[in-house]
Amino acid sequence: MNEHDSEKLAGILLDKGLEKAENEKEADIIILNTCAVREKPVHKVYSELGRFKRTNKIIGVCGCVAQKEKKRLIEKMPHVSFVLGPRNIYKIHEALTKALEGNKSIYTEQNGRCPITDLSFQIDRKNPYRAYITIMEGCDNFCSYCIVPFVRGREVSRPSKEIVEEAKRLAELGYKEVTLLGQNVNSYGKGLPEKIDFPDLLYKLHEIDGIEWIRFITSHPKDFSDKLIDAILSLPKICEYIHLPAQSGSNRILDLMNRKYTKERYLEIVEKIRRSGKYFAFTSDFIVGFPTETKEDFEETLDLVKRVKYEGIFAFIYNPREMTKAYNWKDDVPLEIKKERLKILLEIQDRITEELSNSYVGKEVEVLLDEFDEKEGELTGRTRTFKIVKVKGDKSLLGNIVKIKITEAKMYELKGKILGGN
Ligand code: SF4
Repeated sequence: MNEHDSEKLAGILLDKGLEKAENEKEADIIILNTCAVREKPVHKVYSELGRFKRTNKIIGVCGCVAQKEKKRLIEKMPHVSFVLGPRNIYKIHEALTKALEGNKSIYTEQNGRCPITDLSFQIDRKNPYRAYITIMEGCDNFCSYCIVPFVRGREVSRPSKEIVEEAKRLAELGYKEVTLLGQNVNSYGKGLPEKIDFPDLLYKLHEIDGIEWIRFITSHPKDFSDKLIDAILSLPKICEYIHLPAQSGSNRILDLMNRKYTKERYLEIVEKIRRSGKYFAFTSDFIVGFPTETKEDFEETLDLVKRVKYEGIFAFIYNPREMTKAYNWKDDVPLEIKKERLKILLEIQDRITEELSNSYVGKEVEVLLDEFDEKEGELTGRTRTFKIVKVKGDKSLLGNIVKIKITEAKMYELKGKILGGN
């Protein structure tokens, strides 16, 4: 989400005639686009800002830390010229103009959606073949540990017409893959005047010529309907990769987290998709050491991980976040135990990831090649299951979806040789 917001910020400024600096030293303006989901990145923002204290550069802060800290940020760091929350990034040029006149500004309005998605300018996309498209912003779920609804605001969906137009334009520009972005893509359509849900949107996008692969992040298990499963299984452009954050395998902890699904329901979704016979890669997020988490609760998490067999997970130690419900609860799992649980979880996952990576050897997979290393004469791309593949080949293959036979596997990277392509 943040990566794409940065692409939008850069797009606006380039559109207004600014140029990208080669490096930090040469820049006249430095903008930090920040994340506040965990405490550590927030500290990092402050330490980065400290580094810029004695420069003559214009310094701005965007994103979730800006939204969370508001005025406090400028009070603590008086050399910061502007603070822009995620819904206000479209005001970047206005803020910059004020800064050039010597004035400070704070934009943290959260009503409505960020009108930046109205195609009024060219987003500065980093990758010329794979693009993000925002389909919704914010979140209404209020998981008890999560700061997102407070810093990214309440859920707002983008009209489907705009999304389809953006995808068509991307196809014309030669993009092959789109990733639909939202805090909870499964609840897309809520509050829109048109009657539409996420599966309906997938069917619409599937019709666009030129877009070959479609992905989406992030899905919430509570909104993963049978209609969505049918769409995923019946639309060939939807990639066999689903990021489905579980957070815990214990029903008691899931209830405390306000996740509104059980371990059994989660497994039922995975089972329904797997029953189709098509291989789908699942990835997930987990929190260990949530308040009151017992050894038994943690074992339920390990059991879920072993049963789903994720290709990869993001696991974190619980970290209380201001504004959230759980912030008021006793953070009662000792740090040593949290660390030990994280280690056990990651070790188990590493073994699964390794086993699954090895299972690719000998298989033929489709890969969208999107990077070229001149020195190595090597192309890099991703499979439909989002696995990184490296292959020797010619630069002219960039942007193509090619068939590759996998010959070698490392934990997070596969190697192979090209069989053919389009
Ligand atoms: S669904 Fe829960 S974890 Fe995800 S962004 Fe919303 S509140 Fe946070």
